[in-house]
Amino acid sequence: MAKSPWAEPAGTALRAAGVRLDSYDPAATPGFTGGKKLGEQLLGKRGRVLSELQEMLFANGRSGDHRNLLLVLQGMDTAGKGGVVRHVIGMVDPQGVRHAAFGVPTEEERRHHYLWRVRRRLPGAGQIGVFDRSHYEDVLVVRVQKLVPQAEWEQRFDEINRFEREVVDAGTTIVKVAMFVSLEEQKRRLAERLERPDKYWKYDPSDIDDRARWPEYQQAYQDVLDRTDTDHAPWYVVPADRKWFARLAITELLVDALTGLKLTWPAPHFDIETEKAKLAAG
Ligand code: ADP
Repeated sequence: MAKSPWAEPAGTALRAAGVRLDSYDPAATPGFTGGKKLGEQLLGKRGRVLSELQEMLFANGRSGDHRNLLLVLQGMDTAGKGGVVRHVIGMVDPQGVRHAAFGVPTEEERRHHYLWRVRRRLPGAGQIGVFDRSHYEDVLVVRVQKLVPQAEWEQRFDEINRFEREVVDAGTTIVKVAMFVSLEEQKRRLAERLERPDKYWKYDPSDIDDRARWPEYQQAYQDVLDRTDTDHAPWYVVPADRKWFARLAITELLVDALTGLKLTWPAPHFDIETEKAKLAAG
C-alpha cells in the first residue's frame, strides 16, 4: 500500500484540544505532508469513499436504523463554509443531505428559545445534516454584538453541551468544524467579491464591521473551543487559507466519522431465492 500523505489522521491533527487561536496559522496544513496537487487528487478519491459511506448510511436509515451524522460548520465570513457545502457535501447524493443555514433569527424564531430553530432542523434517520452556522452563533455574534447580557450567553455553553449530549444519545454523530481564515486572506477574498460581478451577491457591507471586531471574535471562538469541545461532540479546527486543504480535511473527518459507525449494507427483508424464482417466472 502506498504511504499515506497524512502523517497523523486528520481527526487527531485537527482536534481542537489545546489550540490557541492567538498563535494559530490559518495557512498551515496540520497532519498533511502533501501539497495542493496531491490534495486535490485525493479529494476526488476520498469523496468516492464518502459517497459510498453516505449511501450506506442512507440505506440503513431506510431499513429502520435511526442513526445519522451532523456536520456543524462555523467560521468568519469568507472562511469557506459555502465551498465546503458545495465541494465536499456536493460529492454525496443530495437525497440524503439535510442542509440548514442559520442567519439572523426571524421574528418567529426570536419569540422562542435559541435552540428551538436548531432542534427543528436536525437530520432525520440516515441523513447527513449540515449546519451552515448553528447554535454557536448564539455565543459568537450574539456575544460580540452584545445582543444579550453576558450572564445570559455565559450559561449557554453548559446548555449547548447538554443539548448536544441529548442529540448524540438519540443516535446522531456530531462533527463540529471551525474554519479559520487569516485577516489578510479574508481581505483578499472580500476584495475579490468587490471586483467580480459573479461575486457581488456574496458581499455584505457588515462583514467589514466584523473585521474591526476580529480580536473579540477570536476570543469568543476560543471560549467556544475551550468550553464545548467534548468527547461526545468534538470540535475540529481547520485552517482555511488554503481551500484545497480545508475541503480535503473535512472530507477526511466525515469519512472517519462514518467509518466509526461500522456500517454494513442492510440485509434483504425478503427471500432472495423466492424473488429470483418469481422474477424468472414472469
Ligand atoms: P452567510 O454570511 O453565512 O453567507 P447570511 O448572509 O445569511 O449567511 O448571514 C448570516 C448572518 O446571520 C451572519 O452575519 C450571522 O452572524 C448572523 N446570525 C446567525 N445567527 C444569528 C443569531 N442567533 N443572532 C444574530 N445574528 C445571527
